[in-house]
Amino acid sequence: MTSSPRIESVTSREVFDSRGVATIEVEVCARGARAVSAAPFGAPGSRGEFEASAYGALGVSGAVRAVGDDIAPQLVGLDVTDQAACDALLAEIDGTPNFDRLGGNTASAVSTAVALAAAQAQSVPLWSIVGSAATPTLPRPLGNIIGGGAHAMGPTPDMQEHLVLPVNPSSFRDAIAWNIAVHEETGRLLAARDAAFTGGTDDERAWAADLDDTAALEVIAQAAEAVSIRTGALFRLGLDVAADRFWDAESGFYRYERAGMNLLPYEQVDFIESLVRRFHLGYVEDAFESTDYESFAELRRRVGEDCLVCGDDLLATNTARTAAGIDAGSVNAMIIKVNQVGTVTGARETSAFAQKNGIATAISHRSGETACSGIAHMGAAWGCSMIKAGVTGGERLAKLNELIRIEEAAAAPFAELPAALGGRR
Ligand code: PEP
Ligand code: MG
Repeated sequence: MTSSPRIESVTSREVFDSRGVATIEVEVCARGARAVSAAPFGAPGSRGEFEASAYGALGVSGAVRAVGDDIAPQLVGLDVTDQAACDALLAEIDGTPNFDRLGGNTASAVSTAVALAAAQAQSVPLWSIVGSAATPTLPRPLGNIIGGGAHAMGPTPDMQEHLVLPVNPSSFRDAIAWNIAVHEETGRLLAARDAAFTGGTDDERAWAADLDDTAALEVIAQAAEAVSIRTGALFRLGLDVAADRFWDAESGFYRYERAGMNLLPYEQVDFIESLVRRFHLGYVEDAFESTDYESFAELRRRVGEDCLVCGDDLLATNTARTAAGIDAGSVNAMIIKVNQVGTVTGARETSAFAQKNGIATAISHRSGETACSGIAHMGAAWGCSMIKAGVTGGERLAKLNELIRIEEAAAAPFAELPAALGGRR
């Protein structure tokens, strides 16, 4: 029997993400494998208050030094296929509960590079390393069509993401093609209604349009309808409200600058409910600021039978916060982001814990992305119902196209549709 492949080296460097912001890239070598992973980066004003900080006090250059000085000497020699041991050691080296010292970006780049090296060294797909499923499943892609909030410049919607989710694709290729078609059709409609629309986009390549949130949903509904008639696709519309960004704790109002309104928390619940009913939304993420478990729970009571009420900044891929959200009845869906929690093992455990409690999971990119396609494999390995990875742009399609490859190589079916989207109850 051949022995397990050992980690031979861990090195890192500063590279740049899709926004042009410096980030860390980690390289792990093990028995002929040379795997590289660069960390994605949430936007200032969008990153959650409770997620692991990106680089702690180190900054990117300090993080690169810490990989060389603190992490590499301890990881070299470990069995690269023992992801749990490598991730536990990373947590021990960090020494804080939430990767406050090394940062979630540093830890997640190392952790993902370890997983990739293990896959390469054994010539197996990454999904078989990061999970234990015999067959991977395909998450449905949430497509970001019109952007706003912290991801866009100028007079754009207050909410961050206006989304579509195809519910009846028979292949992952179809699902991507349908989302692209809605994105294109929306671009045409925006150009037709506003001569000043330049085709500008936000950080995730969603259209940056001079609209309020209600008008953005109207345009997307029209575009989705046109694509449905052409292709037979059925879509549910969705939102990432990213409400932290326009919550004013001092006054106690959600301040909608573009729409020109200020809402108290109970009015925010009413407003979101009205949008869910009017547009038959199937997905609403972070509709409230990230300490308000109770408003999430109230929205879920009102619309949760037929709509996914999702926590991102609320839960921060953190098991303790997720447990609190479950106890409060706040969500029936949650976002999983590896760099919010710091390790592949941490993200896997949070996803499994959520699913065990009936919470649908959506594996997610960040607004600042890299060419790494690791989350495609994680979503497929962990039975995630959805993946949020944008619609167009090389760094987004790196993940989506990888799911076409996984579908082909492993004959992967779609994950079960959540009950709130019409799946089995
Ligand atoms: C999000 O909020 O879901 C998101 C992807 O944005 P960011 O990466 O900027 O936090
Ligand atoms: Mg979000």
